[in-house]
Amino acid sequence: MTAPHIDRDRLWQSLMDMARIGATADGGSNRQALSQEDAQARALLLEWCAPLGLKLEQDAIGNMFLRRPGSDPAARAVAFGSHLDTVPTGGRFDGIVGVLSGLEVMRALHAAGMATRAPLELVNWTNEEGSRFRPAMMGSRVHAGDMGLEATLAITDDRGVSVAEALKQSGLAGPLAPSPRGWACWLEAHIEQGPVMEASNTDIGIVVGTMHARYFQITVTGEPSHVGPTTMDRRRDSLAATAEAILAVERIGRAAEPGGRASATWIENFPNARGAVPAITRLHADVRHDEAATAIEMEAALRQALAEIAAVRQVAIEVDHYTSFGPVAFDQTLANVLRRRAEARQFTIRDMIAAAGHDSVLVAQLCPSAMLFVPSVAGITHNPSEYSTPEQIARGAQVLLDAVLELAG
Ligand SMILES: [Zn+2]
Repeated sequence: MTAPHIDRDRLWQSLMDMARIGATADGGSNRQALSQEDAQARALLLEWCAPLGLKLEQDAIGNMFLRRPGSDPAARAVAFGSHLDTVPTGGRFDGIVGVLSGLEVMRALHAAGMATRAPLELVNWTNEEGSRFRPAMMGSRVHAGDMGLEATLAITDDRGVSVAEALKQSGLAGPLAPSPRGWACWLEAHIEQGPVMEASNTDIGIVVGTMHARYFQITVTGEPSHVGPTTMDRRRDSLAATAEAILAVERIGRAAEPGGRASATWIENFPNARGAVPAITRLHADVRHDEAATAIEMEAALRQALAEIAAVRQVAIEVDHYTSFGPVAFDQTLANVLRRRAEARQFTIRDMIAAAGHDSVLVAQLCPSAMLFVPSVAGITHNPSEYSTPEQIARGAQVLLDAVLELAG
């Protein structure tokens, strides 16, 4: 028996093969949750898992658990993975690195003919990105009991297709009732999605926690009227008021740097017709910060700014705070395992705070959890030019493998 080792080229080839599904002309990936592309990506993963003897268990929200038995049937599983879905302007690495690094761990163990004491589970979570169906981290939220299954199945995309219908059309609903699986621990490898590691020559980021983020849907209601006869002073224009709201969000984000961010990212306008003064505009915004208390202050500043805009422009503004994540402190003992394993390989390391949401935020409510980051070239993400080198990704997979071997025995 040889010691299991990460095959850099095999891992890279799998990443490139996966990127062909939903490939965009500019080199990115568009594989939104529960689409035909998502179904094809999952089928490819299953094809790769079949020769490894992994057994698929799938729950009703489509989360995939690929199980490798351990020598001790009573032992709780060591689980790891991430997500295969992307945003519409997605890259080839966000989420995919976590799933396929996990696959590479399974392949390495299989090639070495090595059994672990504890079972292993490779996980692909449904709809981590939340760009088609909000909120983000949907599959892990339902798994963790943060959202109910029935209410989640009724959520619709912009075309009115529900999660239930999309699961049915894509054939991705499994028979299991979503619930925690009694894991011993959870690990997720991910790209940094920021510039810090590259700038500081860091190989492996040890993610010690996440920011606190708060998400809002803002509905601005004015009054429909004709753009010709309606004089400027009589207008109650919901879109113009929303323009001010967008700038207020940006101001709040700038004032909160370096620890904070605020973004307005999505808009829907009614009647959205030439010739009609806009009457109802919906905006999606979020605020986030290292310090939870400061994120709450940012929300207060946003509500204050919106109240002022509403008063001046004579429109009604409703704010629906529909979800949050973090702050999460990941398990220190588990983070130390990653730290020691990276140091043993002579990789340079650095503690990191995740600014983006990840499925690990939800899993951390259930069992000891930790994340590792690999560098993102130029910090670019959710963009077709998102890139990490084969070597950077292989280092992350190596630390994942070494940690899994320590934890699973
Ligand atoms: Zn991700």
